[in-house]
This record gives sequence, C-alpha cells and structure tokens, in this order.
Amino acid sequence: MATVTGAQIIARSLRDLGVTVIFGIVGIPVVEIAEEAINLGIRFVAFRNEQACSYAASVYGYMTGRPGVCLVVGGPGVLHALAGIGNASANTFPLLVLAGSAETTLVTKGGFQEMDAVSFLTPHTKFAVRTSSLDFIPGAIKNAYRTCWYGRPGPTFVDLPADIIQGKSTPGYRLPAPENMLVSTPPKSSGDPALIFKAAQLLRSARAPLLIVGKGAAYARAETSIRRLVEQTQIPFLPTPMGKGVVPDSHPLNVSSARSAALKNSDVVLVLGARLNWILHFGEAPKWGPSAKIIQVDICAEEIGRNSGSSELGILGDIERVVEQLETSLANWKYTGGGSDSTSKFATLLAESAKKNEDKAQKAALTPTLANSPLTYQRAYHIIKSTLNTLTPAEDGNVVYVSEGANTMDISRSAFPLNHPRQRLDAGTYATMGVGMGYIVAAHEAFNGPSTSGSRPKKIVALEGDSAFGFSAMEIETLARYRIPALIFVVNNSGIYHGDTTTESAWKTLQDQTAGHDTKSADGKRGLRSTSLLYETRYEMMATMCGGKGYFVRTEEELEKATREGFLSDTVTLVNLIVEPGIGKSIGFAWQQKKEEAKL
Ligand code: ADP
Ligand code: MG
Repeated sequence: MATVTGAQIIARSLRDLGVTVIFGIVGIPVVEIAEEAINLGIRFVAFRNEQACSYAASVYGYMTGRPGVCLVVGGPGVLHALAGIGNASANTFPLLVLAGSAETTLVTKGGFQEMDAVSFLTPHTKFAVRTSSLDFIPGAIKNAYRTCWYGRPGPTFVDLPADIIQGKSTPGYRLPAPENMLVSTPPKSSGDPALIFKAAQLLRSARAPLLIVGKGAAYARAETSIRRLVEQTQIPFLPTPMGKGVVPDSHPLNVSSARSAALKNSDVVLVLGARLNWILHFGEAPKWGPSAKIIQVDICAEEIGRNSGSSELGILGDIERVVEQLETSLANWKYTGGGSDSTSKFATLLAESAKKNEDKAQKAALTPTLANSPLTYQRAYHIIKSTLNTLTPAEDGNVVYVSEGANTMDISRSAFPLNHPRQRLDAGTYATMGVGMGYIVAAHEAFNGPSTSGSRPKKIVALEGDSAFGFSAMEIETLARYRIPALIFVVNNSGIYHGDTTTESAWKTLQDQTAGHDTKSADGKRGLRSTSLLYETRYEMMATMCGGKGYFVRTEEELEKATREGFLSDTVTLVNLIVEPGIGKSIGFAWQQKKEEAKL
C-alpha cells in the first residue's frame, strides 16, 4: 500500500477501536490527527480550554460505558488536561488521553512545548506511554484504550511525538486489519458463592437493612437487576448523588429524605458501587451505626475492606452479576420490618424522619417570594421544576441535569428527583468546579449524538453556581457552535458559597475600600472577602454574544417565562437567576455537615 503518515495511523486506530467522537483542542502537530479523524467520519468536538474537553471526555466515558477520548497538544495542553485526568481518576471514569509532544530528536534541547508528559502523568494514570515508532502506534493506542476501560476504569495516556505524528511509513508497511483492533466489552465476573450466601444470610436476619446505590452501579448499567432486587426484597435504598435514578427516586423505598436516620440506624448495609469515602462519611460513626455490618460490592479488590468496609464480607465482582446472584439467594424472602419484637421500628423511624425533612423542604418550596425580596434557592428550584414538568413529565426522563457549585448543587440534589440512571452529572468525587460546561457537551454527544438517532432528544438543563460557571464560561461559544440547545441557569448570589451584601451600593462601598487600599479598619472586615464576586454580573450576555438567548431574572414570573422559553429554544439559553446572597451562611458543602465549618 502507499505510504501513510503517523497521523493517519492514529486516526485509523481510533476508528477501528470504535471511537465515534473525540473531545479536544488542536494545535501543532495534533491538528493533523484531528483532521484525519474527521476525514474518517469521527466527530471532533473542539473546545476553548483543555480542562473542559478533558472533563467532557471523562464523563462521556461514564455515560456511555465506553472510554471517552481526548486529544490535546503537549506541554501546556497536557497541564490543562490534567484536570480531567484527575477527575477521571477520582471518579473512576474510563478516559483515553492522547497528546502531542516535542520531536524525539529535540528532547532536552528546549523543543516546542517540550515536557516529559509520561513521567508527569505516570502517577495519575493507569499507564502513560510514549510511542516510539509508527509500528508501535496501533498496539499502544489499543492497549491504552483497553486498559482505561477494563478492571476499575480510569485514565490512560499516550504521548505522540511530532516526528511520529508527521512521520511516513516505510514502503510495505501494513496497517493492522480492523478486526485485530477490536476490543470487546470488559469481562464480567460473578461474586464468590460463599460470600453471596453469607451476605444473603446477613440481610435475611437484619433488623434494619439498607442498600446504597452508587455511581458504580449506574456505570455498570445494573439498573434492571437492582430494581428487581429492591422490588423482591423490599429493602430500603439510598442513592449517592450520582447513583440517583438507578432505582427511581419516586420509589416508595427510597429513603433519601431520611438519609441521616437511615445511615445511623441500619445494621446491615449492602453497598453497590460506592466507595466509603467522604461522600459516605467513610462508613464510620457517628454518621453510621458503630456496629453496622457493611458489605461492599465492587469491581476493585483494593476497595474491599477500606475504612469501615469488612474484608470478610465484601464481594469482588461485577455489580449486575452479584445482584443477580443475590436475587437467587434471597428468592422467596422479603424484609418485613425486622422481626417480631421490633416490627417496623426501622420503617417507622425512617418514615418519621422523612416526613419532617420533606415538610421542611415543601415549606421552603411553597413559600411565595415577598415583593422586593430575592428568590430563595428552594423557591427558584420549585418554579423551575414545576415549569419543566408542564413541558415534559418527570417520569419520561427527557431531561439530563448537570449541576455544580456549593449551595446550587447541594440544594438541587433533593429538589430535582430523578427516575432514570446517568441523567444527573455533578461535581463528583473530586468536587471539581468547572466541569459543568464540558459535561453539557458530553451529555449532548451521549444522548443526542449521531449514534442515538431515532431516540427522542434530551434537553440538558444545567444548574450552575455563578462561581462554578466562571471556571469554564467561555465554553458557551462551544455550545453555540455545535448548536447544543442547553438551558443553563447561572444561580447568581454574587459570590462563592454566598454573596456579601444585599444592595449594589453596599457592595460598591466594599469595592471602593478594596480598590482604594483602604485598610484602616480596626475589625479587619472591610472590603471584599475572598468569596466575593462582582455584584450581579450580567452572565446572560455571554449567551447573546454568541447568538443564544439570555434572560436576567429576579422574579417568579420572569423565572417561569425564562424556563419555558429556554426549554423550547433551539439555541443555547442562559438564565441569570439572581438569588438570595445568603450572608453569614456557613461555608462548605452541606453534604459534609461538619460542626466545625467555618462561618464568615
Ligand atoms: P459514589 O460517588 O456514587 O459514591 P464512587 O465513585 O465512590 O461512587 O464508587 C464507585 C465504585 O464503583 C468504584 O469503587 C468502582 O470501582 C465501582 N465500580 C465501577 N464499575 C463497577 C462494576 N461494573 N461492578 C462493580 N463495581 C464497579
Ligand atoms: Mg455563588
């Protein structure tokens, strides 16, 4: 065959692996790879900052269950993409990152964008490798693709020197046959039957059993078997933030609104695809009962027995398989309240706690906004949710939610119930701010991309804190360019966690003090705080500047109208939603609920 370039071999390898979309930013020399990929029918989604494209590729892997692919330039491109590599690693998402690098003959001389990316990324990836010859390209890319996907998913990295990308094959070079590039879906293993038996026995005799459904269960696409297990056993369940929707939130056994009571009082907990990390308070007292028996189900052996998990009880295996085994083991049994002397004690406790929390939330949602007062988060979310419900019933699952920020994300978690898996993307295990815009693009590709043709398009609704949005705000141009008609709410309290003042004039006084270096204050409290952002920044103009729709919203009526029009719009819409500044509120994720949280 005629000679081929390294770029062509790379693009061919990706296509033969089944890659249909690449998220990236081009520059010399990776632009040649992107161009060849487009020529082969692969979509190349071009971003404005490598952070956003690496975030997009990481979550695309989570949503589709196949590796997301990210292509960036070397040096600074790799440094920026490290953000998504860390995000994929922390969340266990499958991600293949490809980057250009300086010519092999210029290394150590100060070549263009020279950086030893392999050494740099080795600690942060499942492996990082440099391709040293054209012959090696297909094998390296195939192994990197397979490795990021198999076992516990995570990131892998392939470094592509400029002379390899631009190199030409020797006469007689043969590309591998496409069938030799195929990587089948990862092998699945069942759990040890003895441990399945033990787990079933423990659950049968539990006084207060609980099932925790994590994002590993969502990634494993185990919803059908988990739903059956819940139905069959009648064990209450608690989803983690991204485990929501594996079993519908509307299910009567969902104890999310009694979360603390459920964690504290359960005696046997089956954890399906969730680590016992900060999100689950490490499985430790006082949040959990001190003698709770915790049965972890995970694909990763190292996870079993971590923190309060039990090494004797934990089950290594694929969630779907293990759940099916448990179904068989627990056939003809269902939880009826934990034995004769304590019948329904647990259920009563959960019901009481849920009612208290739900009444409180309901009250906040239903309290109308007073004239001249800003909307509260709860009221604003109630209006958004009710309006969306009139446009598309929640049960149909036509909305994918993206959410990041502190209050914005925390409060939205319970305000927007989910009945379908993998349709709520948030800041995740790393609490990464700035993921939202990339996640919108990835959700659009995963749910509305060419490979999904025929299914009804999903609307992507993002609830972005004003600070979180700012990390990747320029990606709104990316959305406009690819005609992604997302509806983005920038929930604007003019600050990180909270704002400073309730009036513009009071805010300007603080600004004057800071700008004028007026530091004479005795209490040290003058001027803008580290959490301050410009008062009521007009973020909606970022949508209109690129042909989208922008709304500046203060009132309930304006919010209802903007939500409706934004939902129906076929261009990107940004609703700049002014909410209560929350002055004096505690700093931190409500999720962590630490007593010692700092207060300003
Ligand atoms: P969450 O954020 O919901 O608490 P985590 O990200 O902490 O969830 O945990 C997800 C877990 O799921 C990881 O430990 C990962 O190894 C595991 N996991 C991923 N896929 C599978 C699978 N197919 N079967 C079993 N466990 C899985
Ligand atoms: Mg804010």
